[in-house]
Amino acid sequence: MRFTQPAYPTVYFSDKIWVKCPDCGDIGLVETEFGQYTIPYSRHHTSTFSCTKCGSTKKSDEKWFGYVQGFVGRSCGFCGSQISYTTEPTKAPFDSVTIKCNSCKKAKDYSLNWYRYKENMPTDPYFGLELWLQIDIKDKILWLYNIDHLNYLKNYVASKLREDDGRHKYSMITNLPQWIKSAKNRDLILKKIDRLKNEMNRKMEDNTK
Ligand SMILES: [Zn+2]
Ligand SMILES: [Zn+2]
Repeated sequence: MRFTQPAYPTVYFSDKIWVKCPDCGDIGLVETEFGQYTIPYSRHHTSTFSCTKCGSTKKSDEKWFGYVQGFVGRSCGFCGSQISYTTEPTKAPFDSVTIKCNSCKKAKDYSLNWYRYKENMPTDPYFGLELWLQIDIKDKILWLYNIDHLNYLKNYVASKLREDDGRHKYSMITNLPQWIKSAKNRDLILKKIDRLKNEMNRKMEDNTK
């Protein structure tokens, strides 16, 4: 079987994203209208979250639930050399950090600026909520926004012939980690994708009863 689907970027699938409700932990949906279609993330958009279980709703300009990353970019308080520092992504930001200057070797507390962190995390890019569709495969996480996204990936993994034509740096396939592309994991990944899809269907039936 040949994989012949277009080289969609991940953002293409992000109009509907299944997430974990921050209020009750059950399944909720993030729906986004793209004002302007940009990659890797849509910049001008309206997103709303609604829980299928508890009925909680949120707008994307209210609060960021995801990871943040802290930066220091300024000159050393002693010698004036440039200091740049980046924290690990975290959900618990702090005010300042002690940094030792590379030039004069003197340490000082510097305040941090925090920004939303969206790379390589199993969270949605609009609220930072944890994605519902996640599978553990050999200590790694495979995540998906919705069932269309799941079917697209399934098609790719199942195909023995994978064309490289027309892909670009932001296409979802280009950005897949090697362990997903590896033929030796094919059967395991397909089995887990199917299981996840079945669980999702059951969940939706339960929540709409
Ligand atoms: Zn809820
Ligand atoms: Zn210095």
